[in-house]
Amino acid sequence: MNGLMMDYQLTLPSLLRRAEQYSGSKEIVTRLPDKSFYRTTYAESCRRSRALAVALQTLGLQRGDRVATLCWNHHQHHEAYLGIPSGGFVLHTLNLRLHPNDLAYIATHAGDRVVIVDKSLVPLLEQFVDRTPIEHVLVVEDSYEELLSSVDADAWRDPELDENEAAAMCYTSGTTGRPKGVLYSHRSTMLHTLGVAAGNPMGLGVSESDVILPVVPMFHANAWGYPYLATMIGSKLVYPGPHLDPESLLDAFEREGVTWTAGVPTIWLGILGLLDANPGKWDLSKMKGMLVGGSAAPRAMIAGFKQRHGLNVVHGWGMTETSPVASTAQLPGELSEADEETQFDYIAMQGRPLPLVELRNRDAEGKTLPWDGESMGELEIRGPWIAAGYYDTPDQAERWTEDGWFKTGDVVAMHPRGFIMIKDRSKDVIKSGGEWISSVELENALMAHPAIAEAAVIAVPDAKWDERPLAAVVLREGQTATADELRQFLAPSFAKWWLPERFEFVAEIPKTSVGKFRKTELREMFVPADAPSPVATS
Ligand code: ADP
Repeated sequence: MNGLMMDYQLTLPSLLRRAEQYSGSKEIVTRLPDKSFYRTTYAESCRRSRALAVALQTLGLQRGDRVATLCWNHHQHHEAYLGIPSGGFVLHTLNLRLHPNDLAYIATHAGDRVVIVDKSLVPLLEQFVDRTPIEHVLVVEDSYEELLSSVDADAWRDPELDENEAAAMCYTSGTTGRPKGVLYSHRSTMLHTLGVAAGNPMGLGVSESDVILPVVPMFHANAWGYPYLATMIGSKLVYPGPHLDPESLLDAFEREGVTWTAGVPTIWLGILGLLDANPGKWDLSKMKGMLVGGSAAPRAMIAGFKQRHGLNVVHGWGMTETSPVASTAQLPGELSEADEETQFDYIAMQGRPLPLVELRNRDAEGKTLPWDGESMGELEIRGPWIAAGYYDTPDQAERWTEDGWFKTGDVVAMHPRGFIMIKDRSKDVIKSGGEWISSVELENALMAHPAIAEAAVIAVPDAKWDERPLAAVVLREGQTATADELRQFLAPSFAKWWLPERFEFVAEIPKTSVGKFRKTELREMFVPADAPSPVATS
């Protein structure tokens, strides 16, 4: 016997209706290139989203056509997040930090017909647009405005989409092989939004009264869902525009009374350094917390924010393929009275899955491993906002199991309380004498050293042990440390064979387009070209 409930389709136009009805007067603030703050409201933003949907129709676009954006975080990008899918088109966020050749490949593979581009990024667009199927270029401060003002937003009608139709797409950054397109549906986006809206200790812990500033770029992994989450619950949004340096961010936090923010660890390492150097300079008393993810949040950083500045870090894990938020490391209630050090141990892990997301840990032979905090295998995941395939990519067999779980490529152990403990990405793990060494654990430990600003550990080939760890280290300004000192610092926490023989002191660690350590480049710097590739052996 079936239930007798409405077959209500989970589609994004419902978010527009909700925001207009209940949060119309709430603000969406953008920091403009000249650093002034531009203010609009959800009512106006929703009107413009509908106008955009109508405008794209007048350009002759058909349902399912891809519309790219090449933009920083701002209110027009927010309009695109809602307006493009609400017209029945597919939002395709292009990563403005990629090489023009990659952008040409991605826009062509996706079949983009329109691009919305920031004026400041037109020179980048010009380097690849001719090699793509893009027919219409809409410049945000210019032709985009003209087009929007030429149409009547009230002409918009809900296209009554099927919830399984595509809403947005995002390409993985392609650190291994060609970038691959992940294609989100209306349903997966709506369920992900509900998932991250779930209350503590599961979701992102924000509510209507929060003021959210997403540092995480809107051109990567849906800005972790914040545009949709804020629209669903009606929180004030502050978009930082292109101003992502620590000083500008701290200034924006203070001026706009930001209570919640989110981004990758390298951003927060910079902010923590500035706060440490200028105690009391910024009033962050309204800040409730920050979601840190995308790569491992160092425990010393989590402790530093809390102990020196009273700020809470919530650690999250996810991937482009997982919409992206899959887990958060919020403290279970029974640990609320635990001592601070124990609490940091938990927050430094990658957390427990959001509702509706399931995890398992399996070894190379497909054997399910116990959640004992030690057994290392590959994390596999399934759920309604996890990718079931890549867009127009024939050979996908190696990324999904026969029974339909997604293989994350992350090497993990599972804590008995169900917390994920990421040890490495499978291509970064160091295999020494047949055993695994976790680069993430060594990095975390090194970043707790007072003289170290950043540390990345890579595998280098070794005749006897197959691979050995090499630590690339950035010292804080005016600080010194020797390789021996650092080895001694690590020694109490690790088995002897884990300790790196080589320490390289570098001015900076190369970063990917979204601010993660780019280990491939470190390998090129420190591994002779004729050495066997550690990637191939992992
Ligand atoms: P890419 O890093 O290739 O640009 P993604 O942004 O999708 O692509 O990155 C997903 C990967 O980032 C995960 O598979 C995992 O290795 C890493 N990651 C994400 N969050 C965390 C975290 N909190 N701790 C450790 N690693 C993380």
